[in-house]
Amino acid sequence: MDKLKEHYKQLIQQHREIFVAVLNAMQGEINALKHDEIKHYLDVEVEKHIQFQRNLVVEKRKNFSCGKCGACCRLSISEYSPAQLLEKASRGDNFAKEFISTFSPYEDEKEPEKLFPLYIQLLRESGEKVYFYYCKKVNADNKCSDYEKRPSICRDYPDNPIQLLHPTCNFIGWHESIQKIVLTIKAMTEIREHFRKELEKGNL
Ligand code: SF4
Ligand code: SF4
Repeated sequence: MDKLKEHYKQLIQQHREIFVAVLNAMQGEINALKHDEIKHYLDVEVEKHIQFQRNLVVEKRKNFSCGKCGACCRLSISEYSPAQLLEKASRGDNFAKEFISTFSPYEDEKEPEKLFPLYIQLLRESGEKVYFYYCKKVNADNKCSDYEKRPSICRDYPDNPIQLLHPTCNFIGWHESIQKIVLTIKAMTEIREHFRKELEKGNL
């Protein structure tokens, strides 16, 4: 978990730095505009920038492909026990519902360790309790036996750019290469909303 905490700490720090840089840049642009040019800047120019960055993320992904290591199907991790997940699901938590209907808990605790010793060691560093799950639909060749009908929890992996991927995942390089871009998109989107509200209030 130390590595997980470090990952998120580093992300938050990077997000702060990027946020401030983007805010200053956008404020500078707005200061140089006349009042009736600001809406166009926010709706058109900023949108172009965001779209350009999004395309970069998609383009960069093309350089990576699944190595079929099977980690994302054979080792899913949750801080919640099966009973807790069921309880959450019964209270309407959609993520818990999907998770528990996709993944089953490992009956033999040593099994995940045999499969992914490096990753398990990493997760156990802090002694924090986590639970290991696997999907029964993964084939011996690490392919999904129900690929077309796989749930969104599987479709989204590895496309959540702030998720910490399995150390064996081939998409780690992609994540590293898009981290700054994704944080920039996030900052631009948030800051654009702030300036839109300021414009509406007549403060710009
Ligand atoms: S449903 Fe398919 S893609 Fe999803 S975890 Fe199971 S085997 Fe993997
Ligand atoms: S962890 Fe990454 S490389 Fe391994 S099977 Fe899943 S997507 Fe493919």
